[in-house]
Amino acid sequence: MAILVINAGSSSVKFTLFNADGKTVQAAGIVERIGFDGTRLKYRNREGRAYDQLVSVADADQAVGTILAALTHPARGAIRSIQEIVAVGHRVVHGGESLNRPTVIDDQVKSIISEYCRLAPLHNPPNLAGIEAGARHIPNAVQVAVFDTAFHATIPRHAFLYALPLHFYTEDRIRRYGFHGISHKYVSEEAARFLRLPVDGLRMITCHLGNGCSMTAVKEGRSIDTSMGFTPLEGLVMGTRCGDIDPAAVLHLMEHHRLSPAVMSDLLNKQSGLLALAGIGSNDLRDVIAAAEGGNPAAGVALDIFCYRIRKYIGAFTAAMGGLEVLVFTAGIGENSPEVRHRVCAGLDASDGFGIVLDSGKNARTSGQTRAIQAEASRVKILVVPTNEELEIARETLQILAG
Ligand code: AMP
Repeated sequence: MAILVINAGSSSVKFTLFNADGKTVQAAGIVERIGFDGTRLKYRNREGRAYDQLVSVADADQAVGTILAALTHPARGAIRSIQEIVAVGHRVVHGGESLNRPTVIDDQVKSIISEYCRLAPLHNPPNLAGIEAGARHIPNAVQVAVFDTAFHATIPRHAFLYALPLHFYTEDRIRRYGFHGISHKYVSEEAARFLRLPVDGLRMITCHLGNGCSMTAVKEGRSIDTSMGFTPLEGLVMGTRCGDIDPAAVLHLMEHHRLSPAVMSDLLNKQSGLLALAGIGSNDLRDVIAAAEGGNPAAGVALDIFCYRIRKYIGAFTAAMGGLEVLVFTAGIGENSPEVRHRVCAGLDASDGFGIVLDSGKNARTSGQTRAIQAEASRVKILVVPTNEELEIARETLQILAG
């Protein structure tokens, strides 16, 4: 028996096959560059045997077919037959207000996910295509949707409402939804497990810093506020997204440069953030740090702004929770950049009232494991927790199977 986790994006389908225990990975990989030249299947099985080959795949349906052929390959596969897959857990970015927990997918659920394509046009359509493909190729498996918005369903009204006329919420559903919820949930629970403390006694801030960045205030195991909003554009500075900005600046630019909504959206989502600030043609923080260290002043400023915004949210979320016991760093930057963790924590030590003190030696070390990096003198525990969204989706899918 096995559980397949599918994360279908606009040009890729990622997959992980777990044993029925929902913990042991039997195989994992990705079909990438779907719809472009050079579409590839990258595959690694449990023994670590890997291959990477060109494939002829035009859409999510063909991608799932290719993945299943790889998983059941007589020599290199992980299972003998597709019948061994009892459930498929799909990552879905937007579940809106109604789909706020993992859900068995039926026609009604698909139509709600489809409704939210309007609010998540880049994510929900490919997620839906992955769902259709899973159901078509593995008809006997239970198809489960796990939502990135769901963990944030506990955010109270005073934190999710924007100060607009109320009918824009009641009729148009304009509100803060929050994203990266699968990751924030996973790392907050993993942090409590690592500390051997009950999650319901802790106030945590989880910083998911990857190409997309968001922070969440997790009080007693529940999200009570998060930096992303109506869309994943709000909040922190990201690889190519601007994060917080005065909406009047957007209106001004549209009016004075005669920019259409589509052009403005592209500017804010794809041409801003580190890419724009550093001006070195890269949105990868490693390149920005290297340029800053090489004396590029714009790259230095980009790094300053990126870290300052995170510090600002630490202050805001600490106040929102009335205190802080645990600060968690995760995702590509959070897990791998001692420089960013150092800059974020610098100056938040006991004398400033936060009690956040890094141990520079522990911060500099790298490992793929959950670890504590605070100094003895730190009141707040500072953890690096490798995120594992696939494992969280498998767990939640298993919980659904268990009823
Ligand atoms: P993710 O979206 O979680 O896969 O994170 C991807 C991003 O993590 C990349 O774009 C890089 O900016 C960043 N990253 C990965 N490794 C490092 C590193 N060693 N130092 C700084 N940033 C890193």
